[in-house]
Amino acid sequence: EIRVRGLTKSFGDHPVLRGIDLTAARGTSTVLLGPSGSGKTTLLRSLNVLERPDAGVVGIGDVEVDFASLPEGKAGQREIARLRAQSGFVFQSHNLFPHKSVLDNVIEGPVVAQKRPKDEAVADARVLLEQVGLADRADAYPFQLSGGQQQRVGIARALALRPEVVLFDEPTSALDPELVGEVLAVIRDLAEQGWTMVVVTHEIHFARKVADQVLFLDGGRIVEAGPPEQVLEAPRTERARQFLRRIL
Ligand code: ATP
Repeated sequence: EIRVRGLTKSFGDHPVLRGIDLTAARGTSTVLLGPSGSGKTTLLRSLNVLERPDAGVVGIGDVEVDFASLPEGKAGQREIARLRAQSGFVFQSHNLFPHKSVLDNVIEGPVVAQKRPKDEAVADARVLLEQVGLADRADAYPFQLSGGQQQRVGIARALALRPEVVLFDEPTSALDPELVGEVLAVIRDLAEQGWTMVVVTHEIHFARKVADQVLFLDGGRIVEAGPPEQVLEAPRTERARQFLRRIL
């Protein structure tokens, strides 16, 4: 479950998030849509504190951080670390360790960051690799895989931390067109298995099929929110209508 209230973020004197409120129930998929520069990636990164919001509250599961009243120093850092541990992040391009095998990439977080026993992490990783269709590539190195396979390892790696929610930042935008489908299919399976996820994507077809809610951002604000059939088929704002006309 995700709860965001009054989230703001500026870069210098340029406000990028101007008061974001959103909630996403456990087990649901949220798609963030909007024109370039509207703040989608900044919002997603704020949930994982890859960007530190200026103010507002982010709650994921049972961890809640109020950025306006975060304590200085170690105490604040601890709160941020607890919040970060609630989400797994899938980057636009996978960021795998090139010198580590697929399996070692997936167990790195659980073993090194979470100090879980290695045999347990390996067993877990094998299940996840099966889920993303790569059970037979555990010993391969990233350079031996296609872009779509690399991205699927990136997904397994995010899931290996057993996060409460998974955040996807344009997970298919760096892929050759023929590889997009296999990655979207994996994300769709995860949604069906009940993972809570937030996905920034321009893949409208995916949003229509998979999203429980679609949020449309413009100028750092959510200007449309609702089920895909409402936001995609009957948007209320001219801005969203224009945007959808262009990408459909
Ligand atoms: P896109 O679809 O193009 O990825 P977006 O909706 O994800 O766009 P953001 O990436 O969140 O938008 O960027 C929102 C605004 O913030 C843009 O004007 C961008 O230039 C600016 N911005 C993002 N990151 C930084 C940064 N680290 N420093 C300064 N400005 C930034």
